[in-house]
Amino acid sequence: MAAIIDLQDIVKVYQTGDVKVRAVCGVSLTIQPGAFVAIMGASGSGKSTMMNILGCLDQPTSGLYLLDGMDVSQLSPEERAEIRNEKIGFVFQGFNLLARTSARDNIELPMLYAHPPLSRKEQVQRVDDALEIVGLTDRADHLPNQLSGGQQQRVAIARSLVMKPALLLADEPTGNLDTQTSIEIMDAFQTLNDRGITIAMVTHELDIAQYTKRNVVMRDGKIISDRLVENRLNAKAEMERLQREQRAADLASWDSLPSCELRSMR
Ligand code: ADP
Ligand code: MG
Repeated sequence: MAAIIDLQDIVKVYQTGDVKVRAVCGVSLTIQPGAFVAIMGASGSGKSTMMNILGCLDQPTSGLYLLDGMDVSQLSPEERAEIRNEKIGFVFQGFNLLARTSARDNIELPMLYAHPPLSRKEQVQRVDDALEIVGLTDRADHLPNQLSGGQQQRVAIARSLVMKPALLLADEPTGNLDTQTSIEIMDAFQTLNDRGITIAMVTHELDIAQYTKRNVVMRDGKIISDRLVENRLNAKAEMERLQREQRAADLASWDSLPSCELRSMR
């Protein structure tokens, strides 16, 4: 099977004045269709630089990048914008939703730039499908501030899907979320991946990386470890386990109330 991502000896040097920073130092990496990869590493190890190159937001200084079989290493900004819209869905840490705009209209946005343009019927169908996949059909008309953090991130995930990307890229998608909500987001990603969508996600959280299928660890701009995940976590099972634990904790606190308080609560 042809790789979706094929990086060969990618180098990225940032030059600020006289100072050169080698952010990525000769990375080779292939990602196959259907993969679910976590890119990990300490702050400053080059994760975001890699993400920017993978997402055609930035160009490597040298090296070859084949995206879905096409050499995208040295495209113009306009050509990169086109490739991004056609092939890549993005999910960011900060959700990046328009504030006074409903979930439905936020999800629809990427399709406004589609060419050839999509029919109105097709647009509505795609928004409905994306809402259903992330479990937000009943929240379509809510504004972002009427949604929880987890729901807002699921709107952002739905938005990333409507152009039917070959690849979904996420940079610290659970960085702003509590544990339970983070698992909810990993559930959405696992569902998408089960449907065949290829996902690469930056995270510095080890437990979050356990929901993916493969962990790539970077240090000082190089890959220092690349392994398949053993004992992969299942987000649905983890959510159920947390709910059971919460119920048990609620019951325990109920038992420990003095009986007079219990009577007054009944
Ligand atoms: P991470 O996402 O793992 O924290 P980054 O890719 O953001 O790492 O950064 C890798 C290195 O490149 C760091 O030393 C950082 O300071 C440097 N760097 C990142 N972006 C730029 C930039 N636009 N200009 C100059 N140096 C940069
Ligand atoms: Mg970063």
